[in-house]
Amino acid sequence: MANHRPSPSKIELCQLTHLYLSDKASFLAVKEIDLRVAEGEFVCLVGPSGCGKTTLLSLIAGLERPSAGSIKIDGTTITGTSPRVGYMLQQDYLFGWRTIEQNVMLGLEIQGIRTKESEEYTLHLLEEMELADFRHSYPAQLSGGMRQRVALVRTLACKPEILLLDEPFSALDHQTKLKLEDLVVSTLRRQQKTAILVTHDLTEAVAMADRIFILAKNPGRIHKEFVVPEELRLALPFEARNHESFSALFHQVWKEMEAINHVHE
Ligand code: ADP
Ligand code: MG
Repeated sequence: MANHRPSPSKIELCQLTHLYLSDKASFLAVKEIDLRVAEGEFVCLVGPSGCGKTTLLSLIAGLERPSAGSIKIDGTTITGTSPRVGYMLQQDYLFGWRTIEQNVMLGLEIQGIRTKESEEYTLHLLEEMELADFRHSYPAQLSGGMRQRVALVRTLACKPEILLLDEPFSALDHQTKLKLEDLVVSTLRRQQKTAILVTHDLTEAVAMADRIFILAKNPGRIHKEFVVPEELRLALPFEARNHESFSALFHQVWKEMEAINHVHE
């Protein structure tokens, strides 16, 4: 076997295009998106509201079928949803009548993989997220940050290789959000997960990402890519925010966002 084979992309979007169709109209939400994400990479998508960020995640999750182009995971074109892909949204979608433990076991039940082993792993994740004492509580008894941690445990419990995160921190207060950023990055790094995070917070993107993509809208497309410098990538988000290269990159991304907003306003 050749030793120098380049490592294949974990996720590969090729000329990905999506039209929403209704009786009267069609709307081109994303057009000809090419994007490769390497295994273990953390990519952030930013861009104005309506530029197709959620559409892209829904396509990668297999919840929508693309109008044109393809999505490959580990080199194979996807045809629908897969347990290899975990999807986490801004709203936590916990079930109020189920305890925290019952909520985090839900994904395992749905996928038919609830075993003693997977239960133990899930309880271990609950401990890691400092939620073990709340296993028998109900979602209404928990704070917003705790509920998002529960949602994260439920997503990780099924051992997805890829995590799609659609503004999971945006409803949280600032301090909780900063703590969760560190927790998520350290957990995903340790488990070598590949992740795509959508955020409207540019500081969050700079603090968390390996690469940042700015999308423009009408139609949704990639406007610009930023590679985050190594010193920020290696740090945890909180530490990265205090690093001297942080504000330089933040201002570059900010300027680029201003430029596309200016074009569209
Ligand atoms: P973002 O997440 O970046 O705000 P979305 O992916 O939600 O953007 O939406 C991209 C565009 O597609 C928006 O103009 C939105 O109105 C439109 N859109 C999203 N979902 C639908 C749908 N189910 N039917 C029709 N249009 C949609
Ligand atoms: Mg969205």
